[in-house]
Amino acid sequence: AHLDRIAAVEPALNAFLHVDAEGALAAAEAVDAEIAAGTVRSPLAGVPVAIKDNIATADMPTTCASRILEGWRPPYDATVVARLRAAGLVPLGKTNLDEFAMGGSNENSAYGVVRNPWDATRVPGGSGGGSAAATASAETPLALGSDTGGSIRQPGAFTGTVGVKPTYGTVSRYGLVAFSSSLDQIGPCGRTVLDAAMLHELIGGHDPADQTTIDAPLPPVVEAALAGARGDLAGVRVGVVTELSNEGNQTGVLAAFTDATRVLTDLGAEVVEVTCPSFTYAVPAYYLIAPSEASSNLARFDAMRYGLRVGDDGTHSTDEVMSLTREVGFGPEVKRRIMIGTHALSAGSYDALYGKAQKARTLIVRDFAAAFEHCDVLVSPTVPTTAFPIGDRVDDPVAMYLADLCTIPANLAGIAGLSVPCGLSADDGLPVGLQIMAPALADDRAYRVAAAYE
Ligand code: GLN
Repeated sequence: AHLDRIAAVEPALNAFLHVDAEGALAAAEAVDAEIAAGTVRSPLAGVPVAIKDNIATADMPTTCASRILEGWRPPYDATVVARLRAAGLVPLGKTNLDEFAMGGSNENSAYGVVRNPWDATRVPGGSGGGSAAATASAETPLALGSDTGGSIRQPGAFTGTVGVKPTYGTVSRYGLVAFSSSLDQIGPCGRTVLDAAMLHELIGGHDPADQTTIDAPLPPVVEAALAGARGDLAGVRVGVVTELSNEGNQTGVLAAFTDATRVLTDLGAEVVEVTCPSFTYAVPAYYLIAPSEASSNLARFDAMRYGLRVGDDGTHSTDEVMSLTREVGFGPEVKRRIMIGTHALSAGSYDALYGKAQKARTLIVRDFAAAFEHCDVLVSPTVPTTAFPIGDRVDDPVAMYLADLCTIPANLAGIAGLSVPCGLSADDGLPVGLQIMAPALADDRAYRVAAAYE
């Protein structure tokens, strides 16, 4: 049924870069056989899942939506993919994204923009626009994304789906093509909070192949989603972050958010205002730290080890082959970030740019710590606007970067962030997201509140 749905809507959406119908049917048949034999391995066995195309899959290409990795097949599965397969989930294919996950609209994909299922003239958000659009349009019930500055939550908000960035270090990044290693985190997309929780629990937990994963029990997110669904938030303290919940938001977004906080009060939560003054530095700090790490991480695409090689005709030196390949293989946003990052890390600028961004990051961590002394979770709109028209911001990178205003602080601090749909904007009838943030290793709190709200 999902393959039929993909065939029907893909020409309009472009959410998938690769669909593996044969592999999916074989995986589904294997689970059918288990069901017939009465030996089903997990509650999600047989459930289809889509995988963002910056996550390594041994049986499908992994392109990161870049020309430089066109047709590249990794020799191994990412840990999260191995865990999905072991539990009997059925990978349908690989989803579209902004090139190397750099973007907020999916317009930076080398393989074409993804269209928002709510309005085909609008972006689905990014970078994980493919995973979100595929989930929203019922091409898949579940999808994996990666969130460096909002790439799971922001597309979730723009498409009316649930998207979660788990606590940094609770989901293995082994096999995730690195963008900004201190910020990247794989997480789930689903149509309900419980769906996301079930996928989260399956992929999460310590992995010896990723030394940044925490060797501690994963927060009990499924239990929390089930408990939350009973709709009682008595005793839960919810902090509205002043800096993210003001008139900087579109009118319809702010109205939907304010309604959502009223619902939380009705469910028994105590809603208070908290201030996080350093959040105003989050976007500039992120847009130095993420490109700095990216400029280093993307050095591996040198035409020698992976994918594309241009100019290897005996007339060019190795250095020339490397630069010709990178010239052709990387799109404009990736080049912009490599330039910014290389500059921010250069000897003359390091202290003034990279070093200062790291200090701002510390201030943001402290703001969160202070806020969580008074609150169990923090809330804000997920994005200040609804999905914007395709083409609207392509010539204005700074306007594009501001779409990450509310999501970036959680990445800089490594804490958990979840986006749950909170109605439609009265401005344009498009979905709005409620962001719920929880302290590191307390992801379950965000799930509990989200499930109660939903
Ligand atoms: N939009 C942000 C960026 O362009 C976030 C990307 C992400 O989370 N991968 O960097």
